[in-house]
Amino acid sequence: MSNMNRRSFIGLLGAAAGLGLAGAPAIASAAELLPKKGRRVVVVGGGYGGAIAAKHIRLHDPSIEVVLIERNRSFVSCPFSNLVVGGFRDIRDNTIAYDKLAANHGIHVVYDEVTAIDTAARKVVVSGGSLGYDRLVLSPGIDFRFEEIEGYDPVETPRLIPHAWKAGEQTLLLRRQLVDLPKGGTVVMSIPLAPFRCPPGPYERISMMAWHLKHHNPGARIIVLDANPDIVSKGALFRKAWEKHYQGMIDYRSGSRVLKVDGRKRSVDNGVEEIRGDLVNLVPPQKAGLVAHRAGVVGEDGKWCPVDPLSFESTLVKGVHVIGDACMAGAMPKSGYSANSQAKVCATNLVRLMNGQELVDPSHANVCYSYVTEREAISVAFVYKVEGGKTVAVPDSGGVSPDLSEEEAVYAQSWIRNILHEMST
Ligand SMILES: Cc1cc2nc3c(=O)[nH]c(=O)nc-3n(C[C@H](O)[C@H](O)[C@H](O)COP(=O)(O)OP(=O)(O)OC[C@H]3O[C@@H](n4cnc5c(N)ncnc54)[C@H](O)[C@@H]3O)c2cc1C
Repeated sequence: MSNMNRRSFIGLLGAAAGLGLAGAPAIASAAELLPKKGRRVVVVGGGYGGAIAAKHIRLHDPSIEVVLIERNRSFVSCPFSNLVVGGFRDIRDNTIAYDKLAANHGIHVVYDEVTAIDTAARKVVVSGGSLGYDRLVLSPGIDFRFEEIEGYDPVETPRLIPHAWKAGEQTLLLRRQLVDLPKGGTVVMSIPLAPFRCPPGPYERISMMAWHLKHHNPGARIIVLDANPDIVSKGALFRKAWEKHYQGMIDYRSGSRVLKVDGRKRSVDNGVEEIRGDLVNLVPPQKAGLVAHRAGVVGEDGKWCPVDPLSFESTLVKGVHVIGDACMAGAMPKSGYSANSQAKVCATNLVRLMNGQELVDPSHANVCYSYVTEREAISVAFVYKVEGGKTVAVPDSGGVSPDLSEEEAVYAQSWIRNILHEMST
């Protein structure tokens, strides 16, 4: 079957599932979707980690078949989504498709939801059937620990008070609510305890919302309820930016963890007081994407996946590798750049494992840019290595940018262009 025909075939199955003609079949009875001819790696999740892992496995060894399973036809980037909230980036510029990646590297893309994984039989189940694998790479990103916030309804609450911590509709909803904020109104933003996806992300978002309000709604203010003892990343630079550009607009309260929410009243409760906002942006605490829980690769903490730092193979289940936000990667932050770097290391050593070769020692890099106004940005960068079985930051290999600057924003623009291009071609 040609690539095109195979894609349409899978597309048809997906459509049938959407019409309710095929449910989520039990693992044993699920019909094989693409019969396995040779060695195959299945990658679940076509985001910052998965798309790159799929590509690099094929680049390292084209004799290995790669099937990438992704629930969405296009991918919307969280990096730069705060600029969409701020009103100076179009969400279409954050969106990529998979056609070129698939065609350029001979990757089979299956657009479907992974509903179950049988790691003993080495099978992944999607609504259209099952797929066998020799090795599995999971890069499902995050899901939320809604149950830790009293009153949070996973369906209704985000429609009233968006988290916008997965980009797309939620980002646009938050943007609309910010534009519609009553004159002189109050925004409440709540930040969960670390670790969470993108340590500087909440503080960049505060800056972007403040930028919008300063220019379109003077008198409006932002109350920040941070569960952490202080700003988690680039603290001194964010404070400097808020002092310089948004004086008197941001009421930052550390050690304030939201325990209860009322979506209809637009209020949150931190155990001491109930705080109402005209707009509430509640970012819930997080855990590895649900599919990792289904695969049995989540560690004792019930949140994240322990992995071998050289191959990213799960320490709990053989043959399953976990990269990106879902894994525990020592000192590396949960960022798109980290996921990209982990994907390349994982692909290299996974192929070496499949070919009976020795594993190579990795070197990782991470840079995280954050916008603080429409023109100025700040950054943090580090190199990471494996030492004593752990991924650690190389001393003096990086640090934060010296100041807020327009130059950093130019670097940031190049970064997003390059990384989205790399993921989609
Ligand atoms: C507001 C914000 C700003 C950020 N800014 C930056 C930044 O400037 N720089 C940076 O480096 N990082 C940034 N990040 C962090 C970055 O988005 C994540 O670290 C990165 O996306 C992690 O990659 P991943 O592959 O683990 O997950 P993702 O990129 O989220 O990819 C996961 C994919 O898996 C798919 N999936 C999940 N489960 C299933 C299933 N069962 N079946 C099929 N498909 C499935 C999802 O649809 C998704 O496409 C930011 C995050 C946020 C929220």
